[in-house]
Amino acid sequence: MSLVLFSSLMIPLKSQNPLALEDYPVPVAPINEYVLGNGYTTFQLWAPAADSVKVNIYGAYKNGRAGELMTTELMQKGEDGLWTYTSDRNLENAGYTFQTSYHGRWNEETPGIFAKAVGLNGRRAYCVDLRTTDPEGWSTDELTNKMVPFSYNIIYEMHFRDFSADESAGIKNQGKYLSLTEEKTHNKEGLSTGLQHLRELGVTHIHLLPSFDYASVDEGKRGPQYNWGYDPLNYNVPEGSYSTDAADPLCRIREFKQMVKHLHQAGFKVVLDVVYNHTFDVNGSNFQLTVPDYFYRHNADGSFANGSGCGNETASERPMMRKFMIESVLYWLKEYHIDGFRFDLMGIHDIETMNEIRRAVDAVKPGVLIYGEGWAAGSPQLPEFRLAMKANVGQLNGVAAFGDELRDGLRGPWDNDANGAFLVGVPGNEESIKFGLVGAVPHPEIDLTKVNYSKKAWATKATQMISYVSCHDDMCLADRLKATMKESSVEKQERLAKLAETAVFMGQGIPFIFAGDEILRDKKGVHNSYNSPDSINCIPWGCKTAHKDLFDYVCQLIKIRQQHVAFHLVNAKDIADKMHFIPTKQHNLIAYTIEDSGERLVVVLNANTKAKMVQVPKADYQILIKDGKASADGLGIVTTGRVKVEPQSALVMVARQ
Ligand code: CA
Repeated sequence: MSLVLFSSLMIPLKSQNPLALEDYPVPVAPINEYVLGNGYTTFQLWAPAADSVKVNIYGAYKNGRAGELMTTELMQKGEDGLWTYTSDRNLENAGYTFQTSYHGRWNEETPGIFAKAVGLNGRRAYCVDLRTTDPEGWSTDELTNKMVPFSYNIIYEMHFRDFSADESAGIKNQGKYLSLTEEKTHNKEGLSTGLQHLRELGVTHIHLLPSFDYASVDEGKRGPQYNWGYDPLNYNVPEGSYSTDAADPLCRIREFKQMVKHLHQAGFKVVLDVVYNHTFDVNGSNFQLTVPDYFYRHNADGSFANGSGCGNETASERPMMRKFMIESVLYWLKEYHIDGFRFDLMGIHDIETMNEIRRAVDAVKPGVLIYGEGWAAGSPQLPEFRLAMKANVGQLNGVAAFGDELRDGLRGPWDNDANGAFLVGVPGNEESIKFGLVGAVPHPEIDLTKVNYSKKAWATKATQMISYVSCHDDMCLADRLKATMKESSVEKQERLAKLAETAVFMGQGIPFIFAGDEILRDKKGVHNSYNSPDSINCIPWGCKTAHKDLFDYVCQLIKIRQQHVAFHLVNAKDIADKMHFIPTKQHNLIAYTIEDSGERLVVVLNANTKAKMVQVPKADYQILIKDGKASADGLGIVTTGRVKVEPQSALVMVARQ
């Protein structure tokens, strides 16, 4: 402990530097830690306030062993804080680390902040020729990968281990990138798992929990280890434990690309969960070992700010941190053909950075999905009006935030698992759900004074809201239902899960589903399973057999959504003009119509334990969803102006106009 305190005193503080951190020069061109040329290799590190910088060059990784130290070379300081060293050899596959010196004291070795390939546990970087990591056909992968409008995106959030590590998945490459390249996998009863399961479901985007290199799992240790991975180490390198050989610097890159290519061919887009808001630790982080203090915000007393709740928060408003985030996102986009980014604790980042990321991404590949958590875990050390918080989403261009009004209006508040809401018949959540159904845009028929968290519409377009009832955080849907229902039976859980997903998919916004909720998987009541074992986190695929009826319902729900333009309204004015709530004057009963393109959709959500009658515009309706059954092809025709909606179920009908 005393050593830590002593070394922290050695870190240069603002007053000791000739330049304030904010004024450090930042180069315009992208930063490449290494450039491999014909007969040379140039190393580069940005460290404007360092008094010396050296590069340690190691032999290549070979036959399961990392190479020995070959040489250590002092780097030369050039313009814009860049230090360089050029070797007269092409050092392809050589390992390297940097070391910076401040006030005469050398820091520990670091792979730098822009490392593209690393060895075991991410401590050493490698000079790889990235073209040697491309799977066959990679150069044409993007040609067939066409983006679709945001409202047609359906996000499926999953973790590699959860999805594939249970024996019941029938997947060979358990917990690995390659698990998402396997076809024809099925559970014991012969029902599909893995990719075919996702194809049947009809989701469009596979959102992977953190898959960049994180710290908490020891990549050299055999046997099960589990972590969600919200503890970043090397932002621009795939995590090693999901590859079949974490020590081989090329393996994780190759396998990640193989996965992306296969997912694209299978018709899916790939979303990365990116966690630029904090690092695993401070003193050992690549940021801190490169340019101490620069990449983090501080409290007034000089201590590290902690808006992430993880001991630190990064400073996206500083030019190099902003540049780093933009370049990192572009790198994943170009090198790994990623199609979307989910920003963890986006409310810690500043608005300008998020908008610059959107601009930079659009210039490379339009239609990329960008969304994030519009909140922080603590109070970030930047004025609220500058932060990419949910309330400021209107100032963000093409960036969506999670709609927790709908989520908690349905399942109950985030801060108390025992409290239920609409789904279990608690009155007073109707306006919060309506707020989510319209996609968090202004709507004259919503009483904002009764909405749980927002007293003002925060989106300008419905595609700025992610519509969901659960995600990896907190209890999954089955557990939350069990924790809040008075009388819990599997049959009732299924009915309410169907009702919940109907609210998610039959409104405006971008729907999102947590892996396994479609087959009522549970996590044995664990609220925060970030490091729980497989016995808690893995999806037991027998659930698909047990809850085939729910699965079929969600499949149809997704089909219905994708077939009717009424669920794809985007602009606030359109939504206010075309989507109208039917006054029901009863709790836990929400009814609305959406009219668009010659169709009128009627949706009724009844969370009461009794059937309810609702007045609707008289017409010949085709029934799409009724009493726990759903069919995109229709369940029959009815001519009516008054409908009965069965207990704890939804009714969805469509009429031609
Ligand atoms: Ca790792």
